[in-house]
Amino acid sequence: MRIEYSPRGIFLSEIGLWLDAQEPQEACWISHAHSDHARSPHGTVFATPATLSLYRTRLGLDEAGFRPLDYHECAEFHGARLTACPASHILGAAQLLVEHRGERLVYTGDIKLRPPLCGCATETVACDHLIIESTFGLPIFHFLETEQARRRIAGFARECLDEQTTPVFLGSTLGRGQEMVHALSEAGIPVSVHGAIVHYLPLYEAAGYPVQWEPYDAESTKGTAVVVTPGLRDQLEASARNLRFAYVSGWAALANARLGARAEHLIPYSDHGDFQELISMVQSSGARRVDVVHGYAEAFARILRQTGCDARAAGVRAPEDE
Ligand SMILES: [Zn+2]
Repeated sequence: MRIEYSPRGIFLSEIGLWLDAQEPQEACWISHAHSDHARSPHGTVFATPATLSLYRTRLGLDEAGFRPLDYHECAEFHGARLTACPASHILGAAQLLVEHRGERLVYTGDIKLRPPLCGCATETVACDHLIIESTFGLPIFHFLETEQARRRIAGFARECLDEQTTPVFLGSTLGRGQEMVHALSEAGIPVSVHGAIVHYLPLYEAAGYPVQWEPYDAESTKGTAVVVTPGLRDQLEASARNLRFAYVSGWAALANARLGARAEHLIPYSDHGDFQELISMVQSSGARRVDVVHGYAEAFARILRQTGCDARAAGVRAPEDE
């Protein structure tokens, strides 16, 4: 299948379908609702129902042109069959299987193998041609198992609250922020949440991930865990309260992460796969050809070639700020 890569996104020219286009297009598949994948309105948008809800909430769109594809559901489009398959990344994230003229192409979008704290676990999809991301495609990246991460998040919060300090978790606006609120809620830990993260909590609740929270108030954080976006860090520190910061991220796996993140407690948990997960996904797909996009694409493609895989880097955009 002919695939065109450019800073505008990935284009399947034979069927006229863009994948995670950066600019408005006639027809586009959106793998998930992060802003570097779902950033424009399009004429026709294929995505999972959860992704469409998050995308609509973020961009304030109406539903005209939405073509929801639930997991394992198929749609015919310009002679191809499109199927959405789960991708553990954020709520609603999906891989796209495109079957066209006897060839099977899979575009992973952002993905990991380990199950997410909220959402469906990745399923391996056999294919001939795989397009896979490599945000953490170097052997130095190794992340916690999901349940380990859950225990570490709750354990750090309890330890801080027991000693009358305030645990602060720095989380992304969409994805890890809501996951941490859910994990803390499930552990029975009171949690204050910044409005940018609160914005999407109703959609997580509607998807079956209960949360109990109160609005974040810089003047009143005593006795609760705090989940805020990294931009709030300086404001929190200026309040001179008794705070302890946890950094929950794939980048927390790096040796210098404590210094870079200015956080004492590092929890290497990500909504992306670590190196071994990416290798496993490539191997289990059975793909004869692999295109690597994002992050350490050149290095990861080189490593794959050393294992005999027909792999190449196909740069599309700058590494995302995970
Ligand atoms: Zn993403």
